[in-house]
Amino acid sequence: MSAPDDRKDAPNGTDSRRSHVEALYQELILDHYRRPRNRGTLEHPDVALRKKNPLCGDVIDLQLQFDGDTLREVRFTGEGCAISQAAASMLTQRLKGKSTAEAAQILDRFARMVHGEEGAADESLGDLRALSGVSRLPVRHPCALLASDALAEALASHR
Ligand code: ZN
Repeated sequence: MSAPDDRKDAPNGTDSRRSHVEALYQELILDHYRRPRNRGTLEHPDVALRKKNPLCGDVIDLQLQFDGDTLREVRFTGEGCAISQAAASMLTQRLKGKSTAEAAQILDRFARMVHGEEGAADESLGDLRALSGVSRLPVRHPCALLASDALAEALASHR
């Protein structure tokens, strides 16, 4: 995060700005949860895999189609908490059309953001930054990382 956390000049400013951003992020997570992007199945996937998070009961079934080195299509089905399903929706949206190397980089940065590493939540993550607050909730890390772990595994198996 760029702005230093200086509350003495703005007694409510920092807090209200933060809660405004958090409200927007919450809205974005719920939007992806209620209207998931790339939800469905492919007729001829190159890679298909299922991953579960037994801690929360989250399941993701992932299907990918490649065109050479490019992730041409990606779809998922699944069930579970809002964080796990919204992450799958946002990640598939972000990765579609990317090369396997670009996709792997985004997944790596996303995982670092979830683990709360400084500076990881940059613009290249787009909507995925809405999940940055999960870094403060270690018990939800497996929820946020379920789809990204599945995608990383699927990309690795294509190489
Ligand atoms: Zn979950």
